[in-house]
Amino acid sequence: MAVVKILVEGYARQKKGYFEATCSTVLVEADGKKILVDPGCNEALLLDALKKEGLSQKDIDYIFITHYHVDHWLNVRLFLHVDVLDGNTIYRGDKEISFSGVLPGTNIEVVSTPGHAYEETTLFVSTKEGIVAIAEDLFWWEDGLQKNDYNSLLNNEDQFMKNKEQLLASRKLVLKKADFVIPGHGKMFKVLKNKVMHY
Ligand SMILES: [Zn+2]
Repeated sequence: MAVVKILVEGYARQKKGYFEATCSTVLVEADGKKILVDPGCNEALLLDALKKEGLSQKDIDYIFITHYHVDHWLNVRLFLHVDVLDGNTIYRGDKEISFSGVLPGTNIEVVSTPGHAYEETTLFVSTKEGIVAIAEDLFWWEDGLQKNDYNSLLNNEDQFMKNKEQLLASRKLVLKKADFVIPGHGKMFKVLKNKVMHY
């Protein structure tokens, strides 16, 4: 069984004259591999979190990027000689190697979930607690605005959304498949099954 650990909880807030945000950064340990999902853009928080796990950058086998917003990937510069993957390609230096279905060498499901960004991908990880969806910016809030009832999750406005219908369909898919969801900016939440959720 894979183990999922949130190393950095994503935040997003308006400051005077600028926006301050980093995404949720997740460590997945599966099949002897340590996979870092969305390394974010806060160097100090990430390095500190790795250190607390007893890890250094060299211990990471590869980095997975859910989508190409810079607050999700800027910290790749802290990792030298590590493969970077997106939803269908392994980037190894100048080599681009295609894959599909699962993360290479694991059973972690890789599913295209467009809407917030066209290329956005969600990882579905089977853990002993249930299926954890690392959905990142399909769901995100500025600090203090998170709401976990079903309607709010489906309809939460996203100022960076690319396609509304796709976003809605992707959100429905994730909420149907997952037991827990890790959002891009906000706290992990549990999905309540087989009932109308908190309308
Ligand atoms: Zn984004």
